[in-house]
Amino acid sequence: MVARTRSSAAGAGGGVVRLDTPVKFLKGIGERRAESLARLGIATARDLLWHLPHRYVDASAVTPLARAEVGHEVACIGRVVAKRVVPTRRGLRIFHAVLRDDSGLLECVWPGQAFLDRTILVGQTLLVSGPVRFYHGRQMAPREYLVLADAEGEADPLAGGKVLPVYPATEGLSHKVIRTLIERHLDQLIPLAEEAMPPGIRERLALPSVAEALDAVHRPRSAEAAELGRRRLAFDELFDLQLMLTRARLLAKRERGSGVAFVLKKELTSRLRGALPWTLTADQVQAIREVTGDMTASRRMHRLLMGDVGTGKTVVALFAMLLAVENGYQAALMAPTELLAEQHAATLERLLAPLDLRAELLLGKHTPAEKEAVRRKLAQGAARLVVGTHALVQESTVFDRLGLAVIDEQHRFGVEQRGALIGKGAQPDVLLLTATPIPRSLALTLYGDLDVSTLRERPPGRGTVRTALRTANQRDKVFSFVEAEARAGRQAYVVLPVIEESERADLRAASTMAQTLQARWPDLVVGLVHGRMKPAERDATMERFRAGQVHVLVATTVIEVGIDVPNATIMVVEHPDRFGLAQLHQLRGRIGRGTSESYCILLADDAVPERLRAFAGTLDGFRIAELDLTERGMGDLIGARQSGDVTVRHARLPDDTDLLTHARDLARDLLDRDPALHRPENRVLRERALARYPRAVELFRVG
Ligand code: ADP
Ligand code: MG
Repeated sequence: MVARTRSSAAGAGGGVVRLDTPVKFLKGIGERRAESLARLGIATARDLLWHLPHRYVDASAVTPLARAEVGHEVACIGRVVAKRVVPTRRGLRIFHAVLRDDSGLLECVWPGQAFLDRTILVGQTLLVSGPVRFYHGRQMAPREYLVLADAEGEADPLAGGKVLPVYPATEGLSHKVIRTLIERHLDQLIPLAEEAMPPGIRERLALPSVAEALDAVHRPRSAEAAELGRRRLAFDELFDLQLMLTRARLLAKRERGSGVAFVLKKELTSRLRGALPWTLTADQVQAIREVTGDMTASRRMHRLLMGDVGTGKTVVALFAMLLAVENGYQAALMAPTELLAEQHAATLERLLAPLDLRAELLLGKHTPAEKEAVRRKLAQGAARLVVGTHALVQESTVFDRLGLAVIDEQHRFGVEQRGALIGKGAQPDVLLLTATPIPRSLALTLYGDLDVSTLRERPPGRGTVRTALRTANQRDKVFSFVEAEARAGRQAYVVLPVIEESERADLRAASTMAQTLQARWPDLVVGLVHGRMKPAERDATMERFRAGQVHVLVATTVIEVGIDVPNATIMVVEHPDRFGLAQLHQLRGRIGRGTSESYCILLADDAVPERLRAFAGTLDGFRIAELDLTERGMGDLIGARQSGDVTVRHARLPDDTDLLTHARDLARDLLDRDPALHRPENRVLRERALARYPRAVELFRVG
């Protein structure tokens, strides 16, 4: 309430500024800047105030230029005293800049970035960070640089050992401009932030007030103070998120209600067990028991089966599917790609052959007549099992009696698509599969209404996978090794990244790589697959690789999922730093599927970054999931990008797991007492959650 009365005073001079005032009405921000700010998601004064630095530069962590040692990663600050663009013999243009500070000089080089000549100017003070190497002298190849001051006269914002906030910036709006804008409005805006945290909690969690927190993140006295401020704001964000998720769960549970109580008839399920070519792992047995328990209960199953690649999720899903079928229902398995769907279909075909059963396959690429035929069988109930892609959720697909929906790689589907498949039946049971393991505590928090089964153990008899880190100057040795292995009868993948912005150049790199290798080994067969090939062509090459007719397969990430070639024991990954860790882990899962030892070789461009060392040091998918989580933040994990209804910007996991747990418990308590947040004392909380999450509007509309 205090904020209300103060806000008019704060706005003196212009109109009254409130938190929902559009930024273009703030001093120093016109239409143009407002447009740039909009690109950062900043529309109102509130957004500006909550636009937090994504990192801090702490003067005490900066290395004097003279002490930047070869072989280390450092951050330095210096004034640009000279610069030039140097062409190399290979046509690459390198931008050089020499920095000076009180201790001495350091040369910085940016290969292939001659354009920096237009933005980096003599006289500017730069912060640079990156590895230092030796090349005619000490040289840094900055991974990142930041202009701290433009001209000699301008004060160095780090002078006096300060902690400098660095804000996410955008084109036409440098981090410096943003910093200045925010600084200018802080005194006016901070008092408008209402304290919404229920009393007592702040003390319990030792967090600052919201006003203190905002002040600390924007004007930190120390890195620790900034971090404490961030934690407070992260807590608010997680709390709002938990309010929303808990509420969504509440409504979902009300709706979920009861489903089919299947009966374990031990017909098809027992026959499958008897016909399996191998013994189930203990984890598989346990997962099947859990799934059976859910399906035979009258409440609907809503279970997530989590397990690294190769842990054998498909057979668990098949048990569930057969349980539905032996009760006279249909079961569907939906996969995110045609390749994956085909692989599942092949697996099912093998496992089902002794049972005289088969699964239909429904893919977008099939002819209209083929699709029509499958759809007719599904509608009439003649087909009991179906595997497919999104084609399954199209309107024209109708089931006679869908009892179980299995969704593979569930995070790759949007909420709507999952909902659409589930909606094809009357209260079908749901089994979600994921090869992206997440720590159990997090799984419970994020998917609180899901029951979770985990496969940790890999089926026995597999060779181990060793991960080696090499750099570009060892490339020749690496490929000699690949050759030797190929001549000894094994097969190899060579993986290259394709990122969207430079897709064309990346695809060219992949085909050049294939040609180069083919020229190097005229008597071996080198294949190439990438995402832009015609599916038929790509599948043909994959098939030849599977059949052992292709020795080395150059590929982009299309092999990430869905290919299972036990004889492939080597994987070379080029530019590994351009992959996410979870993605690398998925890739690595493509080898080590046979009985021999496998090798995953990461061929880094330059110095091997720490993240790759950590990756190489473990095969544990849960550990990697944690590392990946730290790298990407939580937004990605909970599918914010896909569904667009949840964003987490301030929280960092797993560091903030404690906050998450508290937020969840508190949100539950609160909603137990006030399910739709209608009470006056919860008004501020309700408003904050609504402002943050558009989806909350619909969730809290009704009581
Ligand atoms: P994922 O969990 O990655 O989906 P799959 O279900 O595709 O794994 O199984 C990987 C491979 O392991 C398949 O070829 C499958 O037939 C095989 N497999 C599954 N369970 C076992 C087991 N208990 N023993 C031996 N091989 C198994
Ligand atoms: Mg699978």
